[in-house]
Amino acid sequence: MDREKYKLFNVSLSPYTVNLPDVLWLEIMLKASPLELLQLQRVSKRFCDILADNPRSWTEARHNMNPPVPPPPHVNAAGVWTESAYAQFLFGGGNCIVKSCKKWTARFPTSYALRARVCSTKCDAILHRHYETEARKINNGYLTSCAIPGKRGLRQMGQTQRLHFRNWLVHDERDLTQHPMYRVSIVSAADQEWFSARAITEKRPVRPPVAVLRTVEELKAQYKLRAEALPQIMQNAEALQVWSKQYADARKAIDLVNVSFLKEVISPREQIPYRKLLKTPAVSRAFEAFGQSLSRLDIRIWCGMRANAVREYRENITIRHSQ
Ligand SMILES: [Zn+2]
Repeated sequence: MDREKYKLFNVSLSPYTVNLPDVLWLEIMLKASPLELLQLQRVSKRFCDILADNPRSWTEARHNMNPPVPPPPHVNAAGVWTESAYAQFLFGGGNCIVKSCKKWTARFPTSYALRARVCSTKCDAILHRHYETEARKINNGYLTSCAIPGKRGLRQMGQTQRLHFRNWLVHDERDLTQHPMYRVSIVSAADQEWFSARAITEKRPVRPPVAVLRTVEELKAQYKLRAEALPQIMQNAEALQVWSKQYADARKAIDLVNVSFLKEVISPREQIPYRKLLKTPAVSRAFEAFGQSLSRLDIRIWCGMRANAVREYRENITIRHSQ
């Protein structure tokens, strides 16, 4: 990623040369998208502090998206659902869930509840190859590396203590199989938590490592809170599914608008075929950034990147297609 420049208000700003008072930066932040806030947060401690002092900028950023991003669930259980963590989860990217891949991807999750994302259509196909959509069954044990159906995972594995996970464990919101699908890593973390709590309560010296030390009593109280939170988390995941479809449609529409701007306005002006322009890194980066924030390219933006784009075209520098 280009760490030097950040696009705000359709203008490229360099944070090291633009000297604005905090109040003005805040005004800019209140107009930014969640992704732009995440990028700003990475620029300097000063931006981090401004954002930390004004948590409403994250809420505003969600509303600045069109369609607006659904709000995070309000949850009492431990674990963070703050606006900034939520923005990071949605827009910050993550690793592909397919075991043989694990590549980092900026794509949205395929399942928001499981926090599972895939990096490409190829990995998506690997994940779906074993679903039998008609019978809503999973044909192959391969999938257990990603998620397991409730029946096999929670009941038939003969570990009765897993039964009480069922009340609170998040599962795939897409309702793909006859049984809810859980993520293996989440189930095993829950196992560890349970064994650790028992070891602490029974004062055994050896216990599995966990993030928070709790006795059985405390853990059961936590389970209750999580069970109360589960419907909200699932509701949020379903809302995010709807939102991401709308966003993808909006993105496609804006990409078309931007391509036709390049084709009908820029290409005749510069006497360069628009397809060639699209392949230069400068234009391709701009398309990505403008697509993500659903904004239109215009002449002013073109003037800003023209020098680079034309030079890259002349020197025949093109992007490699990763997808
Ligand atoms: Zn992948």
